[in-house]
Amino acid sequence: MNLENKELKELFELANKIGNKRYHKLTHQDFENYRKFDYWRYINGDYECGTTPESKDWVRKNSDSYCPICEDNYSEKGGKTIDHKLPRSQYPWLSMEFKNLWVICQVCNQEKGEMHWYEYEHYIFVHHANLYLAVKAVRPSQLLQSLND
Ligand SMILES: [Zn+2]
Repeated sequence: MNLENKELKELFELANKIGNKRYHKLTHQDFENYRKFDYWRYINGDYECGTTPESKDWVRKNSDSYCPICEDNYSEKGGKTIDHKLPRSQYPWLSMEFKNLWVICQVCNQEKGEMHWYEYEHYIFVHHANLYLAVKAVRPSQLLQSLND
């Protein structure tokens, strides 16, 4: 199935379907990856993002000075956070899938919350139409495609 030509609504439904289907058969490894992400990101429960040497390094390599959503400087928006495009609450098996991770500012991350990517795209379209194209451009299409295969 080619996802490039799909409407947002269809992608939205597909992401939901994949999330719901897979959630009922999580493996031991899925839970391990879920915990592994916490360890990778934090040391001793520190909520600051990217606190292990590996995660700090990953954040440095995968971000520049400006948040890709609001385009503000991270330092003005509470700093950098690692976000799961498809959130861990609905897609726990993607906790350590690097194709699913990106760096956004604290404020945008809080606003995104537990929305999955396509819910979020829709939310941006409705509430911040001026940001929509920037958000749409970083759609996790290949990831969704691989989950759907
Ligand atoms: Zn932002």
